[in-house]
Amino acid sequence: MPATGRSLLRSGDQMDAGVFPDHSEAVAKQGSKMPTIDDFIRPREWVSDFVSEMGKVLRRWGEERYVPMRRQVDEDWREHKIVEPLLKEVLVDLGINAAFFPAEAGGTEMPEPMTVCAVMAEELARIDSGFATACLCSVWGLMPILLTPHRNMDLCMEFGPRFCGDELYVGCHAMTESDSGADVENFGRMKGRTIRTTARLDGNEWVINGHKVWPSNSGKAADLFVVVCTTRKGSTDPNDFALVLAPADSTGVSVGNPYQKAGMAADLNSDIWFDEVRVPKRYRFHGPGDDLKYWKRAITMGNIGSAAMCVGIMKSVYEIVKKFTSQRVVAGKTLKEHSMVADMLSEVAVCIESTSAWMWQYARELDHPEIYGWDPWDERFVLKSRGLALYASTVVERVCSRAMDFMGSYGYSREFDVEKHWRDQKVIGIWMGGKGLKTLENARYWYDLETL
Ligand SMILES: Cc1cc2nc3c(=O)[nH]c(=O)nc-3n(C[C@H](O)[C@H](O)[C@H](O)COP(=O)(O)OP(=O)(O)OC[C@H]3O[C@@H](n4cnc5c(N)ncnc54)[C@H](O)[C@@H]3O)c2cc1C
Repeated sequence: MPATGRSLLRSGDQMDAGVFPDHSEAVAKQGSKMPTIDDFIRPREWVSDFVSEMGKVLRRWGEERYVPMRRQVDEDWREHKIVEPLLKEVLVDLGINAAFFPAEAGGTEMPEPMTVCAVMAEELARIDSGFATACLCSVWGLMPILLTPHRNMDLCMEFGPRFCGDELYVGCHAMTESDSGADVENFGRMKGRTIRTTARLDGNEWVINGHKVWPSNSGKAADLFVVVCTTRKGSTDPNDFALVLAPADSTGVSVGNPYQKAGMAADLNSDIWFDEVRVPKRYRFHGPGDDLKYWKRAITMGNIGSAAMCVGIMKSVYEIVKKFTSQRVVAGKTLKEHSMVADMLSEVAVCIESTSAWMWQYARELDHPEIYGWDPWDERFVLKSRGLALYASTVVERVCSRAMDFMGSYGYSREFDVEKHWRDQKVIGIWMGGKGLKTLENARYWYDLETL
């Protein structure tokens, strides 16, 4: 009996040794006819050749540069010695940080930002969803100042050279507080009244005080915080909701040690304290009312991006489980030829197809107000995209779990990476308000709830 499933799918040695019969030739023959992950829904008339090509570059980079180190990354949650140079390769060398900055500020100003984000999220999450999170959250909080028609050109010009330069510069979207996670995002009902982090105007400066927990790229990873705060503690006035930039090296900013989590080691999460942190008045994104208005676009992008990550994870699981069940023989035939296994395989494919179709449709709606009629910051997008994020996070969990069931102990082993996806994916349902808020806001949209 083999001690572990080591190299079962990577080398023929063990299989030749008779531990597992080698069916690779038959698989290769079938493989030429079998669909691949690129046959799942991705509407070609919506995703330009350029963006598809960008996805292929990310995929190649991931397979060549990241996958060989992937298991070491899982042990690097505290130091990020391996993660940081990899982040530089993607954010700086491959230009993800620059993708949404205007050309005048050094960026590439990609059109159809949600479509671009979805391709990035899918491809990176197929490799490592924690790394995808760290990459995409670098610019996530900046969307209200980066995207047209609500771009803040002065801030783009000030921070563009840092995000689009040759050195690693990382952003962090700091919303969650120790006493208030889902409630911060539940603006429709809580109206910001639980936000404890404050920004006080003092002459030409905002003075920030408060404590954030959990944001992606928090701790020592971030160079710049987008601070979700209020200008009047306890207020429910939308004009008091504020988004203010705080560079990590500002006097009064301090961070904690990384949290140890079940997965997503490539994303660093920690505490951030703001103690009388002074920043220029111009660091507030837009001002009363508009900060909240355009923040909603970022939240919708987070929901759709979360779904895209789930698609990326499920595609990776599809590849793994397809190969495994084509090679592993149980009761005289390959696993996939058993009806109960075929049921699982069918469900995996159905989950990918359904999530992809839904995700691409919402990405399209967000990127094309001229067709669908809603502004991308419309609160209705926030609410209904919660349903997509809820669905995607539910099916990705099921896909990982069911695939593992039929891979037996090998699925539970680190060697096959389904175990990694299974650990990593769980948080996609937990973040951004958790399944509770996702459910409520989705129901609020479709049924016009009055009290919830
Ligand atoms: C890997 C990772 C990355 C993260 N990235 C970021 C980031 O980039 N920025 C950031 O600011 N935060 C980030 N977070 C934090 C995350 O978004 C919050 O933890 C999340 O919003 C939930 O908040 P909470 O943990 O305080 O749970 P709570 O708000 O205490 O919620 C607890 C439970 O109650 C449910 N619930 C909420 N509202 C209701 C309601 N009205 N009725 C019934 N049930 C309800 C929730 O769904 C949840 O299940 C991250 C967390 C992790 C683990």
